[in-house]
Amino acid sequence: MDNSEQEKRYQQRMQRKKTVVDSAVSRAGRQQGLLLVLTGNGKGKSTSAFGMVVRALGHCMQVGVAQFIKSRSDTGEELFFRRQPGVIWHTLGEGFTWETQNLERDTEMAQRGWAVARQMLKDPSLDLIVLDEFTYPLKYGWLEVDKVLADLKTRPPMQHVIVTGRGAPEALCNAADTVTELRDIKHAFRAGTGAQKGIDL
Ligand code: ATP
Ligand code: MG
Repeated sequence: MDNSEQEKRYQQRMQRKKTVVDSAVSRAGRQQGLLLVLTGNGKGKSTSAFGMVVRALGHCMQVGVAQFIKSRSDTGEELFFRRQPGVIWHTLGEGFTWETQNLERDTEMAQRGWAVARQMLKDPSLDLIVLDEFTYPLKYGWLEVDKVLADLKTRPPMQHVIVTGRGAPEALCNAADTVTELRDIKHAFRAGTGAQKGIDL
């Protein structure tokens, strides 16, 4: 095949691709608030959510973040986003530990946390809400999935919500518009490297 033949085929292939992409884009013209779920055992759930927070802030949108399981308070994202005027940051998991082993106490704390998150879900001035590590209160039965889904359903129609955490319940994934499962192939932690600033915290 000479060069001009190769070029012609390439141009035809790209034209076909353009037709497919253009038609898919023209079919997806709806504008609405989305519910996104980032789940799975692989690294990148919270950082993906915070990447969308950065995008939103670039458009001068207002963002609310609720962190449900609080492992540490010195993460780069918390230090950075707490300084941003467009961000409201709530730590709702202070005191949740895997060691508590007290269902009643954890349930009460989760419900108090959800009351705060619900206020954000009722606030139409918030364009994007991140419920970070929110799958755990659902997974461990501290909150009722049906009640949470009902609150999510009645949020302002243009408000986006992102839920992160391992083991997202099926009902949450069914209710969501976009669901991504991050798969763990390899993680440096298992080879003995502790959490690194800028990468893990
Ligand atoms: P990140 O905050 O880095 O996006 P994540 O939200 O996907 O991670 P979490 O389960 O919330 O994952 O874990 C947070 C911390 O645990 C981070 O420091 C992350 O690097 C680390 N981590 C994530 N996945 C794994 C894994 N598969 N094995 C070991 N450590 C992990
Ligand atoms: Mg996370």
